[in-house]
Amino acid sequence: MTAPSPLLIAMHPSDNVAIVANDGGLAAGTLLPDNGPGAGLVLRDKVPQGHKVALVDLPAGAPVRRYNVVIGHAARAVPAGSWVHERLLHMPDACGLDDLPKATAPAPDWAPLAGYTFEGYRNADGSVGTRNILAITTTVQCVTGVVEFAVQRIRQELLPQYPHVDDVVGLSHSYGCGVAIDAPDAVIPIRTLRHISLNPNFGGEVMVVSLGCEKLQPDRLLPPGSIPLVDARSSTDASVLDVVCLQDDAHVGFMSMIESILRQARVHLERLNLRRRETCPASELVVGVQCGGSDALSGVTANPAVGFATDLLVRAGAAVMFSEVTEVRDGIAQLTARAASPAVADAMIREMAWYDAYLQRGSVDRSANTTPGNKLGGLSNIVEKAMGSIVKSGSGPISGVLAPGEKLRQKGLIYAATPASDFICGTLQVAAGMNLHIFTTGRGTPYGLAPVPVIKVATRNDLARRWHDLMDVNAGRIATGEASIEQVGWEMFELMLAVASGRKTWAEHWGLKNDLVLFNPAPIT
Ligand code: CA
Repeated sequence: MTAPSPLLIAMHPSDNVAIVANDGGLAAGTLLPDNGPGAGLVLRDKVPQGHKVALVDLPAGAPVRRYNVVIGHAARAVPAGSWVHERLLHMPDACGLDDLPKATAPAPDWAPLAGYTFEGYRNADGSVGTRNILAITTTVQCVTGVVEFAVQRIRQELLPQYPHVDDVVGLSHSYGCGVAIDAPDAVIPIRTLRHISLNPNFGGEVMVVSLGCEKLQPDRLLPPGSIPLVDARSSTDASVLDVVCLQDDAHVGFMSMIESILRQARVHLERLNLRRRETCPASELVVGVQCGGSDALSGVTANPAVGFATDLLVRAGAAVMFSEVTEVRDGIAQLTARAASPAVADAMIREMAWYDAYLQRGSVDRSANTTPGNKLGGLSNIVEKAMGSIVKSGSGPISGVLAPGEKLRQKGLIYAATPASDFICGTLQVAAGMNLHIFTTGRGTPYGLAPVPVIKVATRNDLARRWHDLMDVNAGRIATGEASIEQVGWEMFELMLAVASGRKTWAEHWGLKNDLVLFNPAPIT
């Protein structure tokens, strides 16, 4: 078997660097072939996979362009054929938030995409679930151990009696007490938790386990009027909320608490078990897209394919959320230009400004985002990472903006402002009402969520080969020319409809579930 020929990928004709696509990188002395970027150059250094090669001589201070964007300036003269690593780049400052273009990009000339459906669970509030799960909401971390004990009993003893219910999930978290609950920013974790309990995959059934003495009291978490299905059912008393309170005088002994939770769980399981999947248009999908453990191929393979699938979903009338503030901050001018209206652009700018101030309070900036793994994978800094991250948003107009923890109430492409942290972003997208999650990774992460199926996409063949029973899609074939962005994008779109209809992802197969992690920018007491 002959070794694959050296392969460099440039993202734009104006770029003066290109990345090495070959598994294992390329050795010093490699002659670059005539049919690609850097034709005829000989590599001066060993260059790892995903890392950049100078295509021309770069004088000291010269702008280094990738994605036709200046990702940094050369710290010293860098001859053509050299490895351009992070230590050779001075990162540019973030652009200002004044004078950004607003809603200036022409809307794409798209035909609607009709006729695509999935089998979902219709909810009374109009939303559609992709899974039929009993969720047990908790008001405070203190009850977590008790709820987990009850969840194990429910899974073993009750679920076999309710074959149409997919799972039972305890919505544990670290919030609820010991927090400055009246601080202005406390609204974020509280509404996040409220909206998680109303995720479409929970069928409108809400049951709460409370300790009793916590700051986040059940009626503060879920005030009257906040649960559509309970309101519809309880025509005489709209304030009925199903709460098991552990400090209740009626509880004598631990098993009394467990029996109370199981008794209440049965009430909800009876109703959930009556539900059946029915044919729903693809427009009922609410997809959250995210990346984590990114490398330099993320922005070449997986994320552009996700972007293509995002455009398909938007054309089909679905909702797609992209997020991760620190990974869009350096692309904000491109995004405000794509806003559907100046008001949407202003809302994006508001979220960027809020996050700039949040980071500044902690004496850092958006550059705190990048990880050792990102850099090993060839991403020199947050500017380069951001350019690869925002392509998940596709090419369509941005129709709306959500602040952290808000619930989505519209279709189209939405910017849901969240931290880039995988589990916090995922948690906030669950709160927004996501019923399907797409997650791309280059370094590899076994990420999964209990409430919502997660389709994981590998950015490179080597990861897809090694993690063959963790990755649902291999976008690495784009780098090697085995598949096009369009082909992988369509493959993802079809897989989304299948998973939304009940097909299990690898994370579901193995039962991999990350914790829900609330974003709490308010003080702890
Ligand atoms: Ca992330």
